[in-house]
Amino acid sequence: MSSLDTLNNSVIVHIDRFSLSRDLQLEALEEFKALCLSSGTNICGEINGKIDRPTPNFFVKKGKLDEIKETVKFGKANLVIFNNDLTPSQERNLEKFLGARVLDRTSLILDIFATRARSHIGKVQVELAQLTHLSTRLVRGWSHLERQKGGIGLRGPGETQLETDRRLIGQRIKSLKKRLEKAHNQRQINRYARGKGKEKVVALVGYTNAGKTTLFNYLTENNLFAADKPFATLDSVTRRNKKPEMNNVLFSDTVGFISNLPTQLIESFKATLDDLSSADLLLHVVDISDKDHRFKVKEVEKILKDLGLSDKPLIRVNNKCDKVKIPDLEKLSKSSLDQIWLSSLTHEGFQSLFEEINIKLNGKITKNWVILEPEMGWLRAELYSSDCVLEERISDKGLIELHLETFHNDLIKLLETQGITLVKEKQTQEAI
Ligand code: GDP
Ligand code: MG
Repeated sequence: MSSLDTLNNSVIVHIDRFSLSRDLQLEALEEFKALCLSSGTNICGEINGKIDRPTPNFFVKKGKLDEIKETVKFGKANLVIFNNDLTPSQERNLEKFLGARVLDRTSLILDIFATRARSHIGKVQVELAQLTHLSTRLVRGWSHLERQKGGIGLRGPGETQLETDRRLIGQRIKSLKKRLEKAHNQRQINRYARGKGKEKVVALVGYTNAGKTTLFNYLTENNLFAADKPFATLDSVTRRNKKPEMNNVLFSDTVGFISNLPTQLIESFKATLDDLSSADLLLHVVDISDKDHRFKVKEVEKILKDLGLSDKPLIRVNNKCDKVKIPDLEKLSKSSLDQIWLSSLTHEGFQSLFEEINIKLNGKITKNWVILEPEMGWLRAELYSSDCVLEERISDKGLIELHLETFHNDLIKLLETQGITLVKEKQTQEAI
């Protein structure tokens, strides 16, 4: 349930550090506005400002505080949303002074997540994040809650409201964690079963709104909800590849990232984000038509690093090329290292993506001569039926020699079989 549903006339406040460049400030402001709007609130006033250091009581200085109050009065706002993280006491002081509810950035993002969570596990993760956020607020002194409460059966003798709240929240957090753990184990079992089937998992990551779900839908012929708003996808979904150019590949669509993702969210979304750590390859989807894409790429790279995923094989997919009218996408992809240029909307540029995914998962395509022992007729038949024999001849010693075209990784596996050896001197390794 979103707390913004009933509180929808807001003043938004965006306070920057002096150290930030002007471009970064504008980017952050635009993103903040999009976040507020996507939460369903109506923006009736907007305050910008800069500070060196937040003040302990109200975060902003007196002059700014009065300006916010004026705007709240003028717009009859009942909510003030800060694009900053506030301490519980700052939040409380602001609420008292402004006579309106105050929400900080973390609470706003949590609220949006709450309205978007669809699956059971997604809802549990959001609730856990919200309660964790709330519990830090309770611990740090909401003294107005420290009244005696007469609820019988809820509490022991002499227990204050604050203690009751803390205890109930603590119990709920525990039970949610248990449920998540169970879901997490189930996922690992599924993953194990998948591992035995030798299927590779390719996970889509990227900033929210980059086009991950649109790309995913095309690759897997699915129909997931893709929308022009932040966090349309919350639950990670894994589906089988439907394109004949790639074989045993599963694609995983995941929650989008955003700058300054609240740590509670990262913690709570571990079960979802786990799908990333078990993936064989990451596709970092970038909206290349977005003027802020450089900043967003850096943010995503930072989060991947925080999640310990920097070493995963990764292809950067520059999406929405149709919007910036880039000609000859395939040629551009061929000349860029680990980068593909395409449009998930017009479906141009995908050939290079398929090739690059195959290469990343299976190694480059190589051509090699191998020699088979006489009793290996069955393997010869198998190689012919899998369509990788280019040529055959008989060696000086009367053994069968085959010229094979295979993925590098498949060749390595093949050479583990008894009775087959690589012909080194005649070997011709060509990358395609
Ligand atoms: P996600 O948040 O990364 O999953 O992004 P979505 O797949 O939900 O897409 C966000 C918005 O971008 C939607 O309105 C899509 O229709 C649009 N979109 C996605 N890919 C493309 C593309 O290649 N070209 C254009 N013009 N729009 C796209
Ligand atoms: Mg999505």
